[in-house]
Amino acid sequence: MVKITVHYLPFPDECKGTVKGICQQLSADNYLIAIDSSLPELEQLRTLAHEKAHIYCGHYDSDLPLSVLENEADEISCLMSGNKRSQPEK
Ligand SMILES: [Zn+2]
Repeated sequence: MVKITVHYLPFPDECKGTVKGICQQLSADNYLIAIDSSLPELEQLRTLAHEKAHIYCGHYDSDLPLSVLENEADEISCLMSGNKRSQPEK
C-alpha cells in the first residue's frame, strides 16, 4: 500500500507562477507531497491530482522524458477535475 502524506503551505514568492506542488519519493511506497496553500482551492485540488498521477502512473520508476511524464500527469489531473487543460504542472 502506498503511503502519501500531503502538506499545504505557502510557497516562497520566487516559486509563484512556476511551482504549484512538489512530490518527493521518501522510499519505495512512501511519498511526501507539498501543495502551495496560497493557490485557489480548485487549483490546489488539481495540483494534488497531478502529483498523485505521477505516483500512481509509476513516473518515479520511468525512463520516459520529463515532458511526457508532465503531460500525462496534467492530462489525468484535468480528467479528474473536469476542467480543460491549462498550464502543465512542474
Ligand atoms: Zn509534474
